[in-house]
This record gives sequence, C-alpha cells and structure tokens, in this order.
Amino acid sequence: MPVINRIADFAPAMAEWRQDFHAHPELGFEETRTSGIVAAKLAEWGIEVHRGLAKTGVVGVLRNGSSGRSLGLRADMDALPMEEANTFAHRSTTGGKMHGCGHDGHTATLLGAARHLAETRNFNGTVHFIFQPAEEGGGGAGVMVREGLFERFPCDAVYGIHNDPALPLGEAAVVAGTVLAASDRVGITVRGQGGHAARPHVAIDPVLVGAQIVVALQALVSRRTDPLDSAVISITQFHAGSAGNVIPEAAELYGTVRTLRPETQDMMERLITQVAQGTAAAHDAEAEVRYVRGYPPTVNHPAQTERAALAAARVLGEERVIRDRPPVMGGEDFSFMLLERPGCFVKMGQQGKDRGGVPLHNPRYDFNDEMLPIGASYFAALVEQELPRR
Ligand SMILES: [Zn+2]
Ligand SMILES: [Zn+2]
Repeated sequence: MPVINRIADFAPAMAEWRQDFHAHPELGFEETRTSGIVAAKLAEWGIEVHRGLAKTGVVGVLRNGSSGRSLGLRADMDALPMEEANTFAHRSTTGGKMHGCGHDGHTATLLGAARHLAETRNFNGTVHFIFQPAEEGGGGAGVMVREGLFERFPCDAVYGIHNDPALPLGEAAVVAGTVLAASDRVGITVRGQGGHAARPHVAIDPVLVGAQIVVALQALVSRRTDPLDSAVISITQFHAGSAGNVIPEAAELYGTVRTLRPETQDMMERLITQVAQGTAAAHDAEAEVRYVRGYPPTVNHPAQTERAALAAARVLGEERVIRDRPPVMGGEDFSFMLLERPGCFVKMGQQGKDRGGVPLHNPRYDFNDEMLPIGASYFAALVEQELPRR
C-alpha cells in the first residue's frame, strides 16, 4: 500500500484547503477562521465536534464499533508573526503573518485523514482528531492538556507529525527517544551605576559586565556540559545605553537555552543564574536572572515509535523509514502531550524535486502539497493498524 487510493482521489481538495489556510494565516490563540473551517468540515463528515479547548482548539471524535480503545491524532493550526516573501497566488493576505512552519499543511493533512476515516470506518474504537492552537511559542498543546484534553477525550496513545524540508518527499524519520530539545528563555538585568563615560572609575559599567556575562555563559556549554550531551545558549538581545558619553545604569540581555536532558536543563537554570550573579558581583554590579521554562524535550516512547514505524512503512515502504537520526535543538509543544500519554512524533520529508526544500521559518518557505496524501495515508494506516476491526 503506498498512498491510499481514496485519499489520492481527494488530494486536490486537500491542497485547496491548505492553500486557503496559507493565504489566511492566524497567530496563536487567534485561529478563529481556521478552527471554524476545521470544525465545519469535521461536522460535515459526521464527526462529533468539540470547540473552545485552549480558546481556539478543536477536537473531533469519531467512534466506530464496540472497542474501548482510542487514539489521538494531533495537528497544529497557527502561523508565525513574519512577513512572507513568496509571490504565488496563495501567499499570505495578511501583512506580518505567515504560515512559515507548515502548520497549514498539518491541519489539511489531519482533515484529509479524518475525511477518509469517516467515510470508510475501517476501524474499531475511537479516534480523537486534535487541532491545537499556538504551537509557535504559546504552548497551545500544554494549555489543552491543562484544560482537561485527555480527561474529556481519553487516548491510549497520541501521535503527531511535522513536515521536514531536509528530508526527501516520501521518507519519514521515526525515531525513539529524544527527538527535539527543551526550549527555555532567559532574561538578565545587569544593574550598575550610571555616570560620565570619561570617568568610568566612579561609575559601574553594566555594558562591560553584560559583555563578560555573555562570554562566560558559553563556558557552561563548552566546560560544564558533557561533550556527549548537547546544550545551546544563545544570547540574542543586548540592550543598553542612549548616548556615546553616558555609562548607562543598566543593561538587558535576553536569549534562549536548549537542552536534551532534564538534568542538563536543571543544571543550566542553576548555573546561568550563578555565573551571571557571580560575574556581576566581581564588579560590584548586580544581575537579576529570570529563567522561564518553555517546552519540555520531545521524547518518543519506544513501543509507540515501533507502531508508528510500522504504519509509516505500510505507506512509504520500510526502506524509506529512517529509524536512527540525531535529535535537533528545535522545540515542539507536542512534548506536553507526550508527557501525559505515550506516543510518537514523526518527521515527514517534504523536499520534492522543485519545491519543499526551503527551511522552516524562512520567508520563502511553503508547505509541499505533495506531502498531504502521504501524511493523511500515514494517519489512516495508523488508525486501522492500532484499532483493528477484529
Ligand atoms: Zn515553527
Ligand atoms: Zn512547526
């Protein structure tokens, strides 16, 4: 079985939905148009619809047969606050907003699977189609979980996909263990003492102290992190001063911290604070550190990863399912769902001959519509495999 024939038949319709979502991007927790279309389509196909979870989230419930088994399939719906550089007909119609991560495609993919499963009903159990808001920074998956997603809609396991411009179309990476990093934010306020730039000895220069903190933090990656483990600290903003001859009172630093293991995440939170405060103290300055935990690492459960690989192989062929691939330091809020239920997050290749290879979050990115029937077939194959009729 490559792509399921019935799904291939309505692939042009899926591409239309996807391009319509692309033309009308909505940011996290503002996906009212998108979620409205999702809810209307699910209802049209006879799927029970629940709205309002995490504000704009939608859950479709499709029951068949008598089995008590259940599965969750998840897609994200939000776009990014960035300007699109593409000029094709379905480019963003809203300035400063763009589907730069392919969530338009994920939504259309899951809709395609829902339509197929509602038509064919070749399974025994309950499928929950989970359309979440705000993956890009808002943690919509975590909000849905906190608002009772899995209590209201029990799932034995939960599965998600993300398109991958670095993988050829028709391949998938289905890898057990940690596949994406924890993604935390850090803000540091360095307080010195303002003064005349020509008389630094009677001031305390927060710019110098801040610069030393930026450098010192890199030693946490190179000297305190196990060389076989991984961590990233990127200080991406440094704000201070207003004149060439004034030593400012304070400097503000912001950045992101990525780690793969909880122990390393704990260590970074502790040591970043220690290094910033210690460096500041050495110069009679003060550092206030605000460390905000973002998304946990995305960790695929071994048993469900085997099941996902089996379903992917049925669609793609076993030789096109990659089972071993190093994690990347990006983050993904599907991790909140994987903390609650076992499951697997699959990366699906979307790089075709002519398109689909532009990186995520690039202003020229576009989801490759050729991936739609592949992704929908994978979800459908997974449901028929995990909720068998007999
Ligand atoms: Zn993204
Ligand atoms: Zn994404």
